[in-house]
Parts: sequence; structure tokens; C-alpha cells
Amino acid sequence: MGTISENIAAVKEQIGHYAELSGRGPGDVLLVAVTKTRSADEINAAIEAGITDIGENKVQEIIDKHDAALPVNWHMIGHLQRNKVKYIIDKVKMIHSVDSFRLAEEIDRRAGSAGIAMDILIQVNAANEESKFGAAAQDTEGLLREILDRCANIRVRGLMSIAPIADDPGDVAVYFRQVKALYDGFMGIRHERLDLKYISMGMSHDFGVAIREGANIVRIGSAIFGPRAAPVQP
Ligand SMILES: *Cc1c(COP(=O)(O)O)cnc(C)c1O
Repeated sequence: MGTISENIAAVKEQIGHYAELSGRGPGDVLLVAVTKTRSADEINAAIEAGITDIGENKVQEIIDKHDAALPVNWHMIGHLQRNKVKYIIDKVKMIHSVDSFRLAEEIDRRAGSAGIAMDILIQVNAANEESKFGAAAQDTEGLLREILDRCANIRVRGLMSIAPIADDPGDVAVYFRQVKALYDGFMGIRHERLDLKYISMGMSHDFGVAIREGANIVRIGSAIFGPRAAPVQP
């Protein structure tokens, strides 16, 4: 591994390569640097190296680091409990992990109190893995329509997905393709609070495949900051 700044340059170069393979340019894919377990100093090093968007999967880490970091766009990318929405509603630019109407309802309520409209992505569990959060592919349109009908303070910007772990990243292309197909299907829906722009998929080990299948946000942690320490088991 190089320095944070060298790793960012290398990742950006690969993003550009895969974007071109899929008929787009490097500027068409947003790099969200995932900083879970990383310090505010490491986050700031990434921002100084050109990162504009930071992703965290835990509310507590956003609370802990938000004020110590340079100004940047924060993304909530992990499972979000309803009782914690209030802590991040004024800190994040987009919530990638909306997978139930009850969660959307709480985001809507808190966004309303804060006087903002929150951008969200609907998380799809494309491979139907029991261990993963996300709406089943066949339930996604129903959830989308319910949110559009009933959540006046939410703007739906697209879909997010996490692919299964596979030895060969090519094996998960089918799931990415399924998410892209769902997204394309939603392009026909006309609604003032549906402003489709993003497909958030691809992590350090599979972002090339994800971009080739249509991702325009990639969420990358270890390829920038190095491997994470194993979580401590209580
Ligand atoms: C940790 C995480 C990532 C980044 O994973 P890396 O393998 O470190 O790139 C992306 N998305 C989510 C939801 C994560 O929790």
C-alpha cells in the first residue's frame, strides 16, 4: 500500500479506466471514501488529497468525526436504526441504506423538523442474502412508490447495493446488472420527489465490475486506507 494520497490517485485512475470501458468519463463516477474505523486525521488526509465525499456505516462514527473533519459531504451507507436518525439528519448529504418504509417515515419526520429534504437511495438486497439488509428486488418498486406517495421531505435519488463476497468479482456482475435493470425500470416513473441520478455499488474488491455494470457511485475503504483491523468481539 502507498500513502493515502497515492492510493486515492491509483483508485481514481482505475475508476477512470472502468468508466471509459462503459462509455463514460472519469468524472461520471463519484468516489465515496469509506472511513469506518479511521481517525479524523486520516479523513482529513483524504480530503486534502481531493476526496469530496466520505461514507460511514455507523451513526456513532459520524457523530464522533463530523466536527473534527474538514468540510466535506457525508454519506450514511450502513444499516440505520430508526431511533438514531435524529443524530445524523443534519450531518449527512445522502442516506444510501433505506430498506423499509418505517425507516423512510422516520427520516421524513426528522427531515421535516429540520426543514430540509433528505436525499436517499433505496438499498436492494439483489442476491437475497439473509445476512444482508436491503429490500428484496421484487419489493423495491412497492417501497419506492410508498415513499414517494407518503414522504414529502424525502427525495429519492437512486439505488444502492452490496454484492455477495465472491472469489472472482466477475461472479457478482449478475447482481449489479439486476440493480441497474431495476433502476432503468424506475426511469419511467414520473414524480416530483423522484430525481434519479445514482447507482451506488462497488467496493474495494469489486468496483471495476460494478462500474462496468453501471454504478456511478463507488464506496471504497480498504483500497484507500489499507486493511481494517478485525472487529473486536465482545
Ligand atoms: C465498509 C463498506 C464499504 C467499503 O468496503 P471496502 O471493502 O473497505 O472498500 C462499502 N460499503 C459499505 C456499506 C461498507 O460498510
